[in-house]
Amino acid sequence: MKKALRYEASANLLAGRVVIVTGAGAGIGRAAAQVYAEHGADVILIGRTPNKLETLFDKIKRATKTQPQIIPIDLGQLDEAAAKNLAEVIRSKYGHLDGILHNASVLGPRLPIAGYPIADWNEVMQVNAIAPFTITHMLLPLLNESPDASLIFTSSGVGRVGRAHWGAYASSKFAIEGLVQTLSDELKEAGRIRVNALNPGATRTAMRAAAYPNEDPQTLPKPSKHMDLYLYLMGPDSSGLTGQSLDAATWPGPT
Ligand code: NDP
Repeated sequence: MKKALRYEASANLLAGRVVIVTGAGAGIGRAAAQVYAEHGADVILIGRTPNKLETLFDKIKRATKTQPQIIPIDLGQLDEAAAKNLAEVIRSKYGHLDGILHNASVLGPRLPIAGYPIADWNEVMQVNAIAPFTITHMLLPLLNESPDASLIFTSSGVGRVGRAHWGAYASSKFAIEGLVQTLSDELKEAGRIRVNALNPGATRTAMRAAAYPNEDPQTLPKPSKHMDLYLYLMGPDSSGLTGQSLDAATWPGPT
């Protein structure tokens, strides 16, 4: 018997929506940007390596009728002025914004806190926690103009329970979980923007291979395996769901 799907998104789930994906050039972000475009979204591809974004841009252009855009940004360098500029570019090209998948992240060194280099700590916190805050802060006015906006912040198992040698990465994901709880609580009464955390769990990507070099990647799901949850949270079927921290591996489907 064929296994029931957890969630089947309608073909035009995201039609007319403008959605940002950070870290869109590789791994989970690349899969999400592609699947969002396939479901009708105009996807803004943010990442630090332009040629990876260009390859994806071309693929989306060939396969869909949507209007993707590349905005190369090194989130390690993102400041208030750069985030303000991002808001202006989006306002002038699209006039509105309906969602952000905060996906980009760096692992940083796997070391005990006692030996953790401060420069690495600062870089990991900047990319994984400060940049998502800065972008969200600057884009909230645009998101508020959407009747049904969704913010997805990417978490991790070590963002709920700390683990030795996961240093700044674990701490940055705890910061993300805290941001989701705080922001969702602030926005829930207005009901226009939902805010959730998503832990993809062990997934076959470059980051996972760097964290677990002795693991056989073939034993892990590909990013495409989780895209039902990424679609559900970004699209209108999850309207009203906010302040949650969901796991792709164990998500039972919409309840
Ligand atoms: P990858 O390392 O495969 O991809 C990360 C992406 O983030 C890349 O596109 C990378 O760009 C981009 N990125 C990194 N640093 C910057 C920066 N300074 N500025 C802009 N973009 C940047 O990771 P995954 O796909 O595995 O991870 C995606 C998310 O899922 C992350 O938030 C991660 O923490 C989370 N996660 C992943 C798990 C897994 O098992 N894979 C498990 C739990 C959570 P470039 O390719 O150009 O370097």
